[in-house]
Amino acid sequence: MKNIISMSLLILFISAGCQKNSQHIPADNSINEADIQKIEAMGFSAEGIIRIDNGYVVEGDIIITDQQLVQPVKTPGKLFTDAEHYVDSNLVIGPRIITIRVNAAMPSRYMTAADSAIARYNALGLSLTFQRVTMGGNIVINGVTGASYLAATGFPSLGNPYSTILLNRSFLDVWAMGTLTTIVTHEIGHAIGFHHTDYADVSYSCGPPSRPVPPRNVHVPGTPTGPEPDSWMLACIPNGVDRPFTAMDILALTTIY
Ligand SMILES: [Zn+2]
Repeated sequence: MKNIISMSLLILFISAGCQKNSQHIPADNSINEADIQKIEAMGFSAEGIIRIDNGYVVEGDIIITDQQLVQPVKTPGKLFTDAEHYVDSNLVIGPRIITIRVNAAMPSRYMTAADSAIARYNALGLSLTFQRVTMGGNIVINGVTGASYLAATGFPSLGNPYSTILLNRSFLDVWAMGTLTTIVTHEIGHAIGFHHTDYADVSYSCGPPSRPVPPRNVHVPGTPTGPEPDSWMLACIPNGVDRPFTAMDILALTTIY
């Protein structure tokens, strides 16, 4: 998830490397063109792509691992070019309980946010039930500092959720609790397979894109193909905004899970 910056906060946040204003893929020698082509062929925008230890972060907060890049690109079942609810071709196989652990070294606000995010999902009666644990965990939430993303996680594989959510404590230690809760809920959304609601039109939450985003994601049946302003899966969020599930978010979640 990316933060939205206002001009008055530009200087404060520019060190976070918000890609909102990026016009070109950065000239980073650790990012090779072949990987960018694979990522775009998978349907993701490579604008503002960031190299991390085990792969890349694209669209602000989505981890594409090196392993995913050597596997064949999956062909989606259905293509839509509009914005709305989209899911990955890989989903979590349920019904099941998904355990979530917050690194014990993190401040208590992160446990509180995780509990609130879990409560938002569990209130929907999905086939996936979320539970916070203090040992183990199918998903582990860790803090990072100095990263160029606000948060990051990946998509499911082999029927399991992505195993890690990274939260940038340089911002989130002091951001509003409602925003932090939304960010944790959003990252869990990716980890169970949801793409950005506005991936085809990120101007919805992030400002105008500099290059077209190729279609890939699988549209959730019954949800509109027009954009929706308050979805929990919008790509960008400013501090102070809370996005509890909208009616269409709930339809998308209950349709898939
Ligand atoms: Zn995201």
